[in-house]
Amino acid sequence: MTDESLNRFIQNIQAAIKHAKRSPYYAKKFADIEPTDIKTQEDFQKLPFSDKADLREAYPLGLAAVPNERIVRIHSSSGTTGTPVIIPYTRQDVSDWAIMFKRCYEMAGVTKEDRVHITPGYGLWTAGIGFQLGAELLGAMTIPMGPGNTDKQLRMMMDLESTVLTATSSYALLLAEEIERRGIKEHIHLKKALIGSERWGEKMRRRIAAELGVELYDIYGLTEIYGPGIGISCAHECGMHMWTDYFYFEIISKTGEVVAPGEIGELVITTLRKEGAPLIRYRTHDLTREVLGECECGSPYPRIATLIGRSDDMVKVKGAVIYPGRVDELLAGIRQVSSEYQIMIDHVNGRDILTLFFETPIADETDRKHIELSVEMGFKNSIGITPRAKAVAVGELPRSEKKTARIFDNRY
Ligand code: ZN
Repeated sequence: MTDESLNRFIQNIQAAIKHAKRSPYYAKKFADIEPTDIKTQEDFQKLPFSDKADLREAYPLGLAAVPNERIVRIHSSSGTTGTPVIIPYTRQDVSDWAIMFKRCYEMAGVTKEDRVHITPGYGLWTAGIGFQLGAELLGAMTIPMGPGNTDKQLRMMMDLESTVLTATSSYALLLAEEIERRGIKEHIHLKKALIGSERWGEKMRRRIAAELGVELYDIYGLTEIYGPGIGISCAHECGMHMWTDYFYFEIISKTGEVVAPGEIGELVITTLRKEGAPLIRYRTHDLTREVLGECECGSPYPRIATLIGRSDDMVKVKGAVIYPGRVDELLAGIRQVSSEYQIMIDHVNGRDILTLFFETPIADETDRKHIELSVEMGFKNSIGITPRAKAVAVGELPRSEKKTARIFDNRY
């Protein structure tokens, strides 16, 4: 960093900490920390992380750093277990989020001529309404479908001539498969799809792009930090540009140290302008790396790579580290195998057993055995342990409207 940018960084961080300490959560967590203690980047890197687990302790409104009358909305991040995390938003936060989201649409080349078909859910979840606000600010026609009811989705998509699909990758795949099955591709007018933050493999990407006939853009975000729309990939498909005028990001190792530039690690975010619920060094648990250098598109915003997994999805079996991104890559290289899979890890008679279910259009018993064998060998070669590979028919593994769970660890 140059002296000037370091000074600005320190000023921003000091202001962010000062504001965060207005919330009961940070008043307690940072009781011994004064904003002026942070004079260097190293000082900043010594600050404790915030994690979803401890945000739950702030339930319901312990994260609020502004008086009640300034809060105009709340969202909640879906806790798979126990207490949810409540994120309060001020009018300014809602407006900042819409501005970031509008930039995402612009980066994807969406204009006010477009018709944006929104399938992520509305309500406490941030997804649907975020896509909605950004598209409205842009001036596009929005079609606020929400998830589910595939018949109605496809009918609206055809009759209203939707040109932009916004969805999770698994729901986009489900729609692509339905469009193919019904043979209605020629009635679909989609040109682009903005796919919400979820790790997804190359194979799934190619399949959705081909079957829907669209350009794909990866959109990043999480409820704790506004929601989706805080970053997006550009036409050059080389990582997602992050709107760092609103937040600062770091990539950390398993032990919590900032990694060397370009190395893989967990994304950690500090909000710089968030009023309702500011967060300092918030652990996203998303695994990625910073993409170094300038992007051909000319955008000055830094990039992170497409997500390769969740730090908490990473499992260790017999000493081998497995994360979904590596399995995606492996399956993408094997013909006659779809992008969908599930891994079950069980502990039987003192041994860890890993079973990998994958989809194939091959029906012949002997041919299936062969492909199971090549999946097992590929897994052994690239990941280091031999799984039990089990072929199932295409469409047999679950597709979901939210995030599809891939790895089930039944050992504990
Ligand atoms: Zn770019």
